[in-house]
Amino acid sequence: MGRFRPIKQFRVSEEVLSQLKESILLGKFKSGEKLPSERELTEEFQVSRGVVREAIRALEITGFVILRQGPTGGAYVTDLSFDRVGDAFLDLFLSNKLSIPELADVRYFIEPETARLAALNAGEEDKKRLVEAQEAELLPVNETSARIIQFQKVHYIIAEACHNHFYEAIAKSMLRLTFKVVEAVDPDHEALHLPGEHNRVIAAVIGADPEAAKGEMQTHLKKFCKSLIAMETAYRQKSIGGRT
Ligand SMILES: [Zn+2]
Repeated sequence: MGRFRPIKQFRVSEEVLSQLKESILLGKFKSGEKLPSERELTEEFQVSRGVVREAIRALEITGFVILRQGPTGGAYVTDLSFDRVGDAFLDLFLSNKLSIPELADVRYFIEPETARLAALNAGEEDKKRLVEAQEAELLPVNETSARIIQFQKVHYIIAEACHNHFYEAIAKSMLRLTFKVVEAVDPDHEALHLPGEHNRVIAAVIGADPEAAKGEMQTHLKKFCKSLIAMETAYRQKSIGGRT
């Protein structure tokens, strides 16, 4: 028996990858936040830019981050905490085993309940985040994916504020599928979702009025889900076109 443990020749990028994953899983980088830039990571880890790139790419493939282009681009942390559930749904959806009307039905069923629970359970921090997200909806955004993120934010916060992890996981999975559909179809966003459409839901949650929160979310989703269902044909055509 030797005096030392042999040093494993791990690939450096795997070590970088595992540290980044750990930071995400421990919540040091939260969903929707941007990871430090390639340059910053290169300096902090003291590795080459290629190694950092490889690790980020692996994070993207495993669904920990999404990469966005443009001036505010970078690696954005996805919503992972409970979200392996969502990956299974996404696979079924992409292989046409779940339809958009089915997705809309589940959202219409689940989210009024998450809103009701949020009105009962939201803490001060949740309420603060809702107000911030409400204000952020008014900021001009051109890029499709950024716009979807902007409008989904309130739905995500309500899912978290309901303080039931199963509801949260289901609601977030449905939001991710919705993101895929809307991103692929890239419809007329003005018609789909306007700033301020969440105001009544937010007011009811902040005002701790569970029945109003439920009702307002139903009203909001009735309109939104109708538009979502109308995207089915366009989505299937685009996704088939994109994959063959
Ligand atoms: Zn909405």
